[in-house]
Amino acid sequence: MTHSEIERATGLEVYESSLTEADGVVYFLARRGLDKLVGCVGAGGISGEKAGEADGRPVTVGPADHANAEAIRKALDWTAPRCLGLVASVGLGDRLGLATPGHVRAVRGSGLAAVLAQQSIREMTRTRRTPEEVMDCATWGVFQAGFRDGFGADADHLQKLEDIDATVAAGFTMFTIDPRAYVDNAADGASHAELAEKVGALDLAALEALPAELISRYVGKTFKLDGATVDFDEEVLLRAAAKYGGAIAHTVKMYRHLQQVATGPFELEVSVDETETPTSPAEHYFFAAELKRLGVEWVSMAPRFVGRFEKGVDYIGDLGVFRKSFAEHVAVMKALGPYKLSIHSGSDKFSIYPTVAELAGPYVHLKTAGTSYLEAVRAIASIDPALFREILDFAHGRYGQDKATYHVSADPGKVPPASDLADGELAGVLDGFDGRQLLHVTFGSVLTADDGEKFRERILTALKQDEETHYAVLARHLGRHVAPFRRDQQKEK
Ligand code: ZN
Repeated sequence: MTHSEIERATGLEVYESSLTEADGVVYFLARRGLDKLVGCVGAGGISGEKAGEADGRPVTVGPADHANAEAIRKALDWTAPRCLGLVASVGLGDRLGLATPGHVRAVRGSGLAAVLAQQSIREMTRTRRTPEEVMDCATWGVFQAGFRDGFGADADHLQKLEDIDATVAAGFTMFTIDPRAYVDNAADGASHAELAEKVGALDLAALEALPAELISRYVGKTFKLDGATVDFDEEVLLRAAAKYGGAIAHTVKMYRHLQQVATGPFELEVSVDETETPTSPAEHYFFAAELKRLGVEWVSMAPRFVGRFEKGVDYIGDLGVFRKSFAEHVAVMKALGPYKLSIHSGSDKFSIYPTVAELAGPYVHLKTAGTSYLEAVRAIASIDPALFREILDFAHGRYGQDKATYHVSADPGKVPPASDLADGELAGVLDGFDGRQLLHVTFGSVLTADDGEKFRERILTALKQDEETHYAVLARHLGRHVAPFRRDQQKEK
């Protein structure tokens, strides 16, 4: 059955790449105006109305809603998320829920596995989305694009036990535990006596160890790794334990809870990237070795690397220093894993990708999110310049407040107001450091502004009207992220 037969039968515009036959039923995704509809020819479990006949069989068409997303995930397993395992992968957060077909274009054929549903609880709150909506948007995008390679779903930056429950229920397969609230950043400047006191105050029951046992396990030992050594004197150990002991205890608690409530296979990421100071290789070693001793199994870990990983812009820092430090983290990862090193705030860090790909090989997860929103805004600049102008001026007014919870250093004064720009210059705002950060950190305000502006609906409408422009900018920009990690780029080892 061809898509034009279905189009003739239903009068809908059918996405040709979605057409799939399973168990004698033909499934498809279609659009009517700006709405997406899912359909099946034959008895396929889609809830909807009879929309015609094809091949002498009834065609049922229904809304692309949650109930039908569940039905399509059941009928076509590639539209449901799965575990990705130890292959190089990229996380592509989609805050608007429309990006997946563009993301698929960026990763298809690259050899990288893709996480296509990925959102933190904080971002869901900021964008007023539920875990189910995030999941369903990925399912519809994958179905539309006919992407049969499989994809992951990352419940990102989970800090509390109840965050796990909500995202397990929505079917997520990857869980990123973020114990940042239990990382003691003050340990970095603490004296020996203060460190000993901090370690004594840890939840030693959760760590299943006394301070003396921790000390005897590490102090005076040199761990020889491939290309690096890690050695602990008492102060290094106490500092690592004081800084990360609470985070280890919380991670163990979260992991065991996840094991209890999980309804299927899952993979874990442990992330301490959002801490004030970099994770030293010795701290990484201690953190990973202790988690291992306590029975935690993880597929990826995000230390806080040296340098600045600011939102939406390239790496800021000395590339030689990064390379040396990253090589040590790779050595720790290989000695205690292997597992993937996860690069958070990983978008737009073009200057370090070659180093990361060269040193970590396939053991990389590159996590991106806000950059896809920025590229959607770039698409808006050409689809609806007037809307872009309003967003830009609104962002100017919000940046001062909104930047508080982000690592950014833009000078909004360097970004002209919309009135100073010709239509053809608008997209150029997204090419500069200051413009990118200005628009990046204000996304939550833009998407939830509901007095007067109502940007969210207008943005979604514009992107639905011109899907092709949206997908093309995403494919181009995210394709640049994927390229350095493509399997064919990596030297055979
Ligand atoms: Zn992160």
